Amino acid sequence: MKCSYTNQYPTLYEAFGLEGLIQNAVHCFKCNEIITSKDEYDYVKCTCGNTMVDGGRISPRGSCGDNSERLYLYGTDTTRAAMERLAWGTYGKTGQDPLKYVLLKDCTSNHLQAIINMKKKTGAENSFVGHISKLILKSRENKSE
Ligand SMILES: [Zn+2]
Repeated sequence: MKCSYTNQYPTLYEAFGLEGLIQNAVHCFKCNEIITSKDEYDYVKCTCGNTMVDGGRISPRGSCGDNSERLYLYGTDTTRAAMERLAWGTYGKTGQDPLKYVLLKDCTSNHLQAIINMKKKTGAENSFVGHISKLILKSRENKSE
């Protein structure tokens, strides 16, 4: 009998060995911008000034205005949570646009496939972002059946 296959969506620690705070981001719905803080002293404000993040993964702080959502991801969150909340930095189709963060789940299937292909090239196909992109693609296939 097959066993030890209990959880369809393991935690990010179980799946990738990620610990602590993985993503410190806020989505401002007023200007529809996602901002992320990468480092302890990386203070970022959204365009309209409604929200800010700071502290990176070490000491997250920030004031969330109204009309915004924190997009924290911890090692204790599941891959399912990452499918909903993982933000991805993109320079647009041409690679020339200013850096902008989008939710991975809002990317088109072509975009997700491009991310996976890019990860494949660097041998990181099953890395955190590559794997979550695949899960999102897979969930779309299942829905269209
Ligand atoms: Zn804003």
